[in-house]
Amino acid sequence: MPCPYLTRLRAAIRLPCLSFLLWLCCNAAVHAQDLAEISAPRFAPRQVLVLYSLGSDASSQWQTLIHKGMSAELANENWRLAPGIYEERLDSVRVGEQPAIAGLETYLQTKYRMVRFDAIITENYLAAQFLSQHPALFPGVPRYYVNQGRQDWVPADGINLDVRHDFGKAIAVMLQVTPRLRHIAVVGDGSARGQAWIAAIRAAITPYQDRLKVEFWDHLSQEELWRRTGTLGEGSAIYLLPVYRDELGQRTTPPVMARDLAARSAVPIFTSVESLILPGVVGGYVISGEKVGRTIARILLGRTPDPDGMQAYIFDDAAVQRFGLRNLPGEARILNRPQGVWAQYHWQIIAGLSLIALQAALITALLLAQRSRRASVAALHAERDMLEERVLQRTLELLVANSRLEQQATTDPLTGLGNRRMMTLRLTEELERAQRFGHTLSLLMIDIDHFKRINDGHGHDAGDRAIAAVAQVLRSVTRGMDTAARFGGEEFVLLMPETPLPVALEAAERLRLAAASLRVECDDGQLVSLTISIGVTSNTPQPTAPARREADHLTDLLIRADQALYRAKHGGRDRVEWS
Ligand code: GH3
Ligand code: MG
Ligand code: MG
Repeated sequence: MPCPYLTRLRAAIRLPCLSFLLWLCCNAAVHAQDLAEISAPRFAPRQVLVLYSLGSDASSQWQTLIHKGMSAELANENWRLAPGIYEERLDSVRVGEQPAIAGLETYLQTKYRMVRFDAIITENYLAAQFLSQHPALFPGVPRYYVNQGRQDWVPADGINLDVRHDFGKAIAVMLQVTPRLRHIAVVGDGSARGQAWIAAIRAAITPYQDRLKVEFWDHLSQEELWRRTGTLGEGSAIYLLPVYRDELGQRTTPPVMARDLAARSAVPIFTSVESLILPGVVGGYVISGEKVGRTIARILLGRTPDPDGMQAYIFDDAAVQRFGLRNLPGEARILNRPQGVWAQYHWQIIAGLSLIALQAALITALLLAQRSRRASVAALHAERDMLEERVLQRTLELLVANSRLEQQATTDPLTGLGNRRMMTLRLTEELERAQRFGHTLSLLMIDIDHFKRINDGHGHDAGDRAIAAVAQVLRSVTRGMDTAARFGGEEFVLLMPETPLPVALEAAERLRLAAASLRVECDDGQLVSLTISIGVTSNTPQPTAPARREADHLTDLLIRADQALYRAKHGGRDRVEWS
């Protein structure tokens, strides 16, 4: 019997174990891929040391530009920058001082004793000079000297790549962009390299001697330099070379000199190196740090470098605007140009427009939904109106039918007079009113004499016509307020509100006479005359108990009228009696 706890424990650890195994398999696959990549020849790391002449001073763009150009060129070739490239910088402040340089050799040897370099490259003259003076440093490693500014210098070992200044082009572009230029002050220093550059400039200005005055400010103290800079005006420009020391031996660095000069100058400052195009410096035809970087990369890649391909027309946009420079060369690169709204904010604009489009779509959808809702509501309203109209029509039809029924229920079809039911209702109402206001009303009960004889002698139809004729007489004799009704077969009742007995008797007499003059046409064409007997009675207004008075009076009144009629019949008919 297996232990239940053991079974549960096994189940609990099964999932983590499986997950761990899966993780191991994945890791093994990834590492196998890494190993394959490392062993592939295209990623074989090359160990290269790049020596820069100056330190990594943040104010100097030179190393940054070189690094940028080198990285871009190597990235193009899918050449791994790390871990093959090692970059070292000479001391920017104590550059050229022997104790510092001597210490540097030991430092590099110690630091890189475990590294087997494939190449050592210098980026500038100072580094080139240092390397050339230390042949024991990394013995046997091929050396490439990228040397800017010492055209007469040849290294003792390795390949020398001279980066040349084309001062002719530099001066030509200055004249091109400032056509009224008449005077150039060349700012340099007394170093051997500085003097070599100045000599080259002297040679380059020969063609312009008659139109251009060129001064060389290479042996001035900084105070004197600032003073002279302040005197420059319209038609003048400064051409700034990299300066490291002044006449008094006071040390500076080229970027600091460029910055201080720009702060004091009212005229355009052109320069010979890209890294000196700082705020206030125009630029010109310069050695491009980026292009030097690309050249170094080409050396690393085993390609033939182009010593003339390291210069470019580069200008600072703000300085160009400030001095109103025109006719810039077509291939000139303009730094710090404010980007157009589209270039600067195109993602924001796209996002904004997308948002607007989305909102427009939503609003359209809402409007469409609203319109369809309105259409549904309108259809519902129309349906409701139609139903209401139909209900109204039905109600009206019902009312008409009811009133017709009501009329039929209270009308005698033969004569069109009210029937017994209608008379009973009217009589009840009128009696009630007469009693309440103490008025008098009269009631006539009329019966056709010997009617049976007409029926028997001339037929039932003749009898009907006789009944209708008497009804017509009743209608013509009565007033608007009186009510006549056919009360039984050939018996009628006439209710005369607000009528005292004498007036009613007169009316009864008129009625009797009118009936006597009637001639009823029979089917055989014979004319038959008839007479009527009338019993008249009136109420006697007197207060009685409300609950009883109507019934009592209604019955009393009818009984009394009937008694009067009875008396008229027995009195010989064709007469009026009252009770
Ligand atoms: P009297 O003078 O006593 O009233 O004699 P009479 O013949 O009129 O007697 P009575 O009032 O009793 O007769 C009424 C007759 O009227 C009886 C019946 O056949 C007849 N009658 C009742 N209703 C109608 C009707 O609608 N049409 C016709 N043609 N005759 C009717
Ligand atoms: Mg009768
Ligand atoms: Mg009769």
